[in-house]
Amino acid sequence: MSNNSHEVDIAIIGGGNAGLTLAAQLAAQKCPPHTVVIEPQTPDQRDCSWGLWAQAPQAEQLSHSTKGRWRRWQLIDHHSRVTHSSDQYSYISLSSADYLRHCTTQLRQPVTQVQESVSALKPEQDRTRVVTDQNQYSAKTVYDSRPPKIVGNGLQQHFLGWHIYTQQPLEDADIATLMDFRVDQSRGLHFIYALPFSDRHLLVESTMISATIESKDWYRQAIEGWLHQNNIQAAEIISEEIGVIPMDTLATDKQTRQPLIAPIGAASGAVRRSSGYAFQHIQQQVSQLAAGIEQGNRSVPTPISSRLTTMDKIFNGVLISRPDLAVSLYMRMAKALNGDQFSRFMLGKATIGDWLRVIAAMPKGAFLNQLVKQLTHA
Ligand SMILES: Cc1cc2nc3c(=O)[nH]c(=O)nc-3n(C[C@H](O)[C@H](O)[C@H](O)COP(=O)(O)OP(=O)(O)OC[C@H]3O[C@@H](n4cnc5c(N)ncnc54)[C@H](O)[C@@H]3O)c2cc1C
Repeated sequence: MSNNSHEVDIAIIGGGNAGLTLAAQLAAQKCPPHTVVIEPQTPDQRDCSWGLWAQAPQAEQLSHSTKGRWRRWQLIDHHSRVTHSSDQYSYISLSSADYLRHCTTQLRQPVTQVQESVSALKPEQDRTRVVTDQNQYSAKTVYDSRPPKIVGNGLQQHFLGWHIYTQQPLEDADIATLMDFRVDQSRGLHFIYALPFSDRHLLVESTMISATIESKDWYRQAIEGWLHQNNIQAAEIISEEIGVIPMDTLATDKQTRQPLIAPIGAASGAVRRSSGYAFQHIQQQVSQLAAGIEQGNRSVPTPISSRLTTMDKIFNGVLISRPDLAVSLYMRMAKALNGDQFSRFMLGKATIGDWLRVIAAMPKGAFLNQLVKQLTHA
């Protein structure tokens, strides 16, 4: 270990979606602040698929890391199938490694990245000392994107997925399956997420929303069962990916001032509690933050409005208290909306009309009970 000490203006801890997007945007400014991104892993070591809804201009901007793009998607349960199509939005799947590599190519002096792991933060008079396994950085401002703490017993989205080549060409290779609930529901809300990247290449994930992580074999069996049920034979399993997305985190938007240490990204509460989607909220937060820094304002914008977080908390409360309704909540929401409305809803950009449609479709008793519970615990 060396005691090399470097003075920087901004230290960004974690070079994931939030950290590297912020660094790339700072590097594009006229007078970038002296910034270091501290990240221990390479993009390939943490490669996974990031799915999101995007309009055409953004989808074009992200083409460097896009693995698949669909204008149609579906949700299925034992009774029905809802298919959405949209002219305005597409559902796209990114390679996180390609995205992060692209951000890295945008960095230029004085914005740099180091492959180190942060072990301690030591606030000093008007700066913070960021201690890594190799160096120390004295920074005026620290943005910390290390993953948030998981609340004990909180809901998590956890999954295991296979990239496979299929023996036969897939039917409907132009449609993304966001949720197919025709799988074992005995351990919590469970669905299959299936993205056809071509007519022979499929990503198929067994995904749970519950408080308990299952054994890897449990998800694998669910995938095998679903493939069998849909008459899809795997010629080759190319790779396996696993993930856990906390949906009830101890994210805090408290920021200490002078020196400023603030969480960004998922650590700041950017994961949508009802769906686990976070990519677009992080992009928006980081763009606003970069613009603020250029104007001399370093405080971090809230990634998701408090109104939306409250609605999501109520939704999750119903998921927990009425597991018997869980599948129908998602199906009712999908049925109530068309493709554009659904995309807006998932992006956290629903209009009042979209909200009214969703509220009208929900079982009123369960939601009212939950609302009362939230109000009495507030
Ligand atoms: C497997 C998975 C799949 C997901 N899929 C989607 C999706 O499809 N759509 C969507 O919208 N959201 C998705 N999410 C949620 C969210 O978009 C991602 O988690 C996103 O990467 C969050 O970005 P972030 O920058 O906040 O955190 P991260 O991207 O997790 O970045 C945090 C970084 O901190 C680094 N770090 C950790 N410890 C240290 C340390 N001691 N010192 C320095 N650095 C450290 C980590 O290596 C990591 O790179 C997914 C999450 C996971 C985990």
